[in-house]
Amino acid sequence: MAKKQFKSESKRLLDLMINSIYTHKEIFLRELISNESDAIDKLYYRALTDDNLTFNREDYYIRIDTDKEARTITITDTGIGMSADELETNLGTIAKSGSLDFKKQHEISEDADIIGQFGVGFYSAFMIADTVIVKSRKLGDDSANKWESSGADGYTIEPCEKDSVGTQIILKLKDNTEDENYDEFLEEFRLRGIIKKYSDYIRYPIKMLVTKSRPKPKADENEQTEYETYKEDETLNSMIPIWRKNKSELSEDEYNSFYKEKFYDFEDPILTIHTSADGVTSYKALLYVPAHAPFDYYTKEYEKGLQLYANGVMIMDKCADLLPDCFGFVKGLVDSADLSLNISREILQHDRQLKVIANHLQKKIKSELLNLLKNDREKYEKFYTAFARPLKFGIYNEFGKDKDLLKDLLMFCSSKEKKLVTLAEYVERMPEDQKFIYYAGGESVDKIEKLPQAELVTDKGYEILYFTEDVDEFAIQILREFEGKEFKSISASDLGIDDEGKKDEEQKESENKDLFMFMKDALSGKVKDVKASTRLKTHPVCLTSEGALSIEMEKVLNAMPTDNKVRAERILEINVNHPIFNKLTDMLKKDKDKLKKYTEVLYGGALLIDGLSVDDPVEFSNNICDLID
Ligand code: ADP
Repeated sequence: MAKKQFKSESKRLLDLMINSIYTHKEIFLRELISNESDAIDKLYYRALTDDNLTFNREDYYIRIDTDKEARTITITDTGIGMSADELETNLGTIAKSGSLDFKKQHEISEDADIIGQFGVGFYSAFMIADTVIVKSRKLGDDSANKWESSGADGYTIEPCEKDSVGTQIILKLKDNTEDENYDEFLEEFRLRGIIKKYSDYIRYPIKMLVTKSRPKPKADENEQTEYETYKEDETLNSMIPIWRKNKSELSEDEYNSFYKEKFYDFEDPILTIHTSADGVTSYKALLYVPAHAPFDYYTKEYEKGLQLYANGVMIMDKCADLLPDCFGFVKGLVDSADLSLNISREILQHDRQLKVIANHLQKKIKSELLNLLKNDREKYEKFYTAFARPLKFGIYNEFGKDKDLLKDLLMFCSSKEKKLVTLAEYVERMPEDQKFIYYAGGESVDKIEKLPQAELVTDKGYEILYFTEDVDEFAIQILREFEGKEFKSISASDLGIDDEGKKDEEQKESENKDLFMFMKDALSGKVKDVKASTRLKTHPVCLTSEGALSIEMEKVLNAMPTDNKVRAERILEINVNHPIFNKLTDMLKKDKDKLKKYTEVLYGGALLIDGLSVDDPVEFSNNICDLID
């Protein structure tokens, strides 16, 4: 019989996969068992929706047999089976997922049920076997077919005998080499261990003929007990999904390894939430907060959502409605008996029960995160460093719908200890006379620390929150206040601080009206005003802004690829106690041309301090040179 070639780049892929995708050879068993369990799911689904089919619980199982002489492992399932065509399409093309086709044919939503994520699992068999035979008989077919392949050189498909519906996979183990001993996979204890480790919660029994021992019957009571061995079928997996077990039965290790396998992470989660509810809507949920953002988290490709099971049967792989965007990083699953089975995604969206569950979970995630903050600060900070952005965007989104949910979870680096503080901690240690929560925006903590605008606030001994992310100030503007204290930028035109010095400055300003007016005119529309500063102590000048739009926000908005550029209302503040001020007043009398240049240079300097660029760098530089002269 002519050998068929694997499709597309399959050959190279096959080779690559066998040799490098999986680090542990033992996972071939997990992959095959998962496929078999999926195949049984499909049959189960059919039986539920087709009245002509009757199956009993006992009819669904997976079997493993070994033959030490022939060096084969045989894995059999009572699933839906594959026709010759399906053997061809599913196993002849790597990375083509038959599960996906099944869903399309049955108009099940893309997310729903039985997802073979990558469509390569089956080929992991070639890591340990040099020949793989798949005998399969599809539900409704009278005949069966055999697919056989010895790896990259192709495969054959021909009719064969098979009494019952389902699939049987025969693996002929590779020859042992100096480095690899494949015979270990014929050992009962080894197979038992692998199944326990990876496939314990497969919902169908995984049976194997195992060796047991029992006392031999005694002829006489006083005889010494002797033991004999015998073979008996045993179900190796506990079948109870981990989330259905009691918390007390589960170790942290078990929770963590379940997470890592199911959600493809190499690191333990930072937080595990195992919760359940009984009542009008009953459900069990197992949620995890990852220790780091998934590699695609900040891309459009990332899909949030929890796996949804209806009574142990997976309905949807990523049910987005169960998680608000701000907690989109949470992984996990929900199992509820109160959802109907063959619901499509549209119906689910309007499912009232689903909303109730989502609401509960949202509160639960928040309270568990707050617990973490209270009990394990280091871990919380690790979490926060990874996921501050979605929380802040969560506050900003939809006009602050979720702001109350999220505000207690926020943290910012602050001027006091240069460490992260929560808003509650900030407010708690505010001096009595401090009315506002002060913040300063900038590129980095280092740069913010040097801002002249901060002088008065720091002088007063007030703490400043450092906003280094573009979203920070936008989020805080939506939040407006925390525990009755409003937020205020250190660059706001009015800092809300009663300072004794203020009177002097006000006096100097009114005495020098002409000067300020001249400078404002010299800057011709670039600033809204030039004022005597009440906040500068040692620095000569700074920029502040009036109105809702700050200079930091202007920067963020203008960095976006749109034509709508915005402009904050800038105020140039001059330190009237700085020597430069005397020069300016002097200049007003003596040399107005020079004063104009001074003004432009001071304004340019203030722009640079705030990380903005000067409008005309050449003119700026020429002005400096002229003045040095
Ligand atoms: P995946 O399971 O990720 O889709 P695989 O390469 O493991 O990819 O399998 C390819 C396809 O072959 C599966 O999607 C499924 O349709 C089919 N298949 C594999 N094993 C079985 C089985 N035991 N019974 C029925 N179909 C199977």
